[in-house]
Parts: sequence; structure tokens; C-alpha cells
Amino acid sequence: MSNPDVNSRMVLAMRNIGVGHAGMQDFCRTFNMKGLAVNTYTNYVKKLKDTCEAVVKRTPNKAAQHVRSVYEVKFPELKDQRIIDVAVTYDGTWHRRGRTSHYGVSVVIDLMTGLAIDFELLSNFCHCCTLAKNTKSQAEFDEWFEEHKNECQANHDGSACSMESKAALILWNRSIDNYGLRYTTVLSDGDAKTK
Ligand SMILES: [Zn+2]
Repeated sequence: MSNPDVNSRMVLAMRNIGVGHAGMQDFCRTFNMKGLAVNTYTNYVKKLKDTCEAVVKRTPNKAAQHVRSVYEVKFPELKDQRIIDVAVTYDGTWHRRGRTSHYGVSVVIDLMTGLAIDFELLSNFCHCCTLAKNTKSQAEFDEWFEEHKNECQANHDGSACSMESKAALILWNRSIDNYGLRYTTVLSDGDAKTK
């Protein structure tokens, strides 16, 4: 593979089906293709992540806007209020069952419309950090990490169990400023650690 467009599409396809660099190399070998070096693969993953984040930032949260409009139709007195109280359900899901998962996604869903208003992805794992730890001394790693920390994929330093409550804090904190919605009533499945 050499065309940048083909490379990024290949990496995106592999990410979409949950396959990492090793799986992609297996796939390429089957088709007698050269594949990508791990650093090149990681660079494409980062470019895709940056592109997706830029699109998300440019796109207003249409679900939150729709929830607001539905509340305003049902309760016309809310039209002049910057902040609206809404009832939501909140739950998290993990990449793997149990406490060993490195990734967790937590979602806030409006109870009246059933629309997902917001979500947060937390990870306590970074592939680059793991590779660097295995190949560098502590001093080399510390120096390398200073350059890397702004693009580190680990954004959670606790356990998988604590991801749901940390995500709730992030989601609740930005709901008012970003969407003018205050999640005052929460329906939960009872297994949440969120209080
Ligand atoms: Zn990292």
C-alpha cells in the first residue's frame, strides 16, 4: 500500500471492524500486500482521530437541539430559559466484560425523545506508551512522554470500574454550557457507580 488515501481507508476499515495493526498485517499478507509499519499505522490512526474530532467540533449537537425544541413545544414557558431541566437515562458499556477493559463509553439519553444527547469515551490504555515502555529506559520514556503526552490515547488513569463515574462528571459539567440542558432526573440500571 502506498497511496495515502488507500492507506487511511484501510486503517479506517480495520478500526471499524475492531482489528488492530497485527490483524491488518495478516489481512495484507493474505492478499500479498505489503501492509504498513506500526509507526505508519499509528500515524494514520492519529490523523483519522484528529479528522473525526474536527468534524464533531464543527457539527452542532443536533440531538441536543432537537431535545430542546421538543421540551419547548411541550412546555412553552421554557422558551425563554437558557437552561432547561431534562430527565435522562445514563449507562456505560465496556470493550470487555469485567474490570480488565481498557475502553469504556458512557452515554446520556433523553427519556422523552430517546435520543442520545452526549457520550464520552474513556481509555486507560495507549498503544504507543506500551510500546515505548517496552523499549526505553525510564529516563528515556519520561523524555519521550513529554513530546507524546498531548496525543496520548489514555485519558483515564483509574480502573475500568471508575470510568462510568468519571465520564458522568465530564458529561454533566459540559451539558449546561454546551447544550443548555441540565440533567436533573436520572433513570439508571442500578449497577452504576455514579452518585
Ligand atoms: Zn500514550
